[in-house]
Parts: sequence; C-alpha cells; structure tokens
Amino acid sequence: MTQCPTCDAVVQPNAMMVGEIFTCPDCGSELEVLGTAPFTIQPAPKEAEDWGE
Ligand SMILES: [Zn+2]
Repeated sequence: MTQCPTCDAVVQPNAMMVGEIFTCPDCGSELEVLGTAPFTIQPAPKEAEDWGE
C-alpha cells in the first residue's frame, strides 16, 4: 500500500501512469507518480505554478 508523503492517507493506483501528477484527495497536495510496479509517489515539483508576481 502506498501513502501520501504529506498526510499519510492511503493512495490507490487508479490506472495512473509514470510521470502523472495528481492531487491527494485527503490533503490536496500535488503528487507525482514515480513508478507503477510497485506504485510509488513523491511530492510534485512546484515549478509549473510559477505565474510571476
Ligand atoms: Zn495527502
């Protein structure tokens, strides 16, 4: 079983692909899929949200 690195909620691998970014349903953190066998995740990088000032 895989848990959210931020809030420890159990995350189910629902047909996710490697590199996919998804949001934890429990805490709202953005997470990135590192692998599917076994299913591993990490906090997603925040760089895509740089909108300037
Ligand atoms: Zn979470």
